[in-house]
Amino acid sequence: MCIKLKDDLRRFIHWGPITLLTLTLIVTWTVIHMNSMWWAPGSSLESVLNYALIWIQTFGTLYNFIRSLMVGPGFVPLKWHPQLTKDKMFLQFCTRCNGYKAPRSHHCRRCNRCVMKMDHHCPWINTCVGWSNQDSFVYFLLFFMSGSIHGGIIIVSAVIRGIKKRWLIRYGLRHMATVHLTQTNLLACVFSLGVIMGTVLASIKLLYMQMKSILKNQTEIENWIVKKAAFRRNAYPRKGIKPFVYPYNLGWKTNMREVFFSTGDGISWPVLPDCNEYSLTCEQLQQKKDKRARTRVFRCIRPATGHWVPIFSQGLWVSLQIPCTDDPRIALKPDDIIHVTRIQEYWLYGEIMISEKQKEKIRARKGAIRGWFPSCCAIEICEDSDSENDLAGGEPVKEQDTAAIESVETDQEIIDFMRDFSCNDGKKAKRLHIE
Ligand SMILES: [Zn+2]
Ligand SMILES: [Zn+2]
Repeated sequence: MCIKLKDDLRRFIHWGPITLLTLTLIVTWTVIHMNSMWWAPGSSLESVLNYALIWIQTFGTLYNFIRSLMVGPGFVPLKWHPQLTKDKMFLQFCTRCNGYKAPRSHHCRRCNRCVMKMDHHCPWINTCVGWSNQDSFVYFLLFFMSGSIHGGIIIVSAVIRGIKKRWLIRYGLRHMATVHLTQTNLLACVFSLGVIMGTVLASIKLLYMQMKSILKNQTEIENWIVKKAAFRRNAYPRKGIKPFVYPYNLGWKTNMREVFFSTGDGISWPVLPDCNEYSLTCEQLQQKKDKRARTRVFRCIRPATGHWVPIFSQGLWVSLQIPCTDDPRIALKPDDIIHVTRIQEYWLYGEIMISEKQKEKIRARKGAIRGWFPSCCAIEICEDSDSENDLAGGEPVKEQDTAAIESVETDQEIIDFMRDFSCNDGKKAKRLHIE
């Protein structure tokens, strides 16, 4: 319990929560200060209500912010497995958590855990938005947005009145000339208005995305899986794959109830009558199998530093073409074997294949094992059509093998094979040819 509290508190020590809390503090101070000159509470009931609203919005924002950060998204227990052994074949295995991925859960590399109904990792709360904190996150956005709009109106009104101060006095409206603009409070107003404009736009966009996700009961990641499911069926019409029915959309009222009055456990979910609890995970396994079929194997020929802008090791041109994503960059050593799944002209995205020996040292290895690296650091290894089919996963995967898609044992066989292959027949290793 004590360790959990320490972990929860540690989430605050990050640029996201620190920046958000600091900005909230500055803006709230500015709003209260300007409001005290513009419409001080006490002169009328409306002024008291206006003042109370500022505090309700501030309290609501901070309470839901802290709650969504402290409660967290809900993590799948380490080494988790389904109750029935036969159900393991429908699930992916997470080597990091050493357990199966429950339906709707995904591994977050920043939280380093499998997250229940993972929506996205939010840097502002320094954790994921998922099963147990999505409601608090939405309330936080609502309070944040309404508080920012309200604060913006107060600051603008106060500044206008401050600018008109001489005019008000000249026309006998001295009781309204209460706002004194100084260099400090004017600077605070300009800064706060800038922050408010940014936060309003960001919170409207986030709120829209969250509400869309809640009403459809489909997280951003699931949305992507559904798109890939449609793509798979359009790309291979001859295979006659059964149409995919997304199983969790039970109508907007039930979907809303699931998030805001949740009674589930974050692992088992109600589904549509024609689906079962593994409909989505089976589709994910099939998509992984397709991805393996498209995977190409590369061998490192020049070390890659893993730097984001490798200007000294790779030169200016490669550094100017860096992929515009926050995926990690990986460091490579000569002879590392990489499974490449995304290809750009100057950069490749893949996963370093880990041998049994390296597996023991994996915890000591610095940096990610999956990410981008400069394409000139590796060459593609080509082989004859039969072995290519085997290596690329073209061979049908047996049902009992599907759960072990990420298993290191399978990788080890390929690593050994590729090392022998590239040593024995160098002619078959060719320079990278970009598509
Ligand atoms: Zn995991
Ligand atoms: Zn996360």
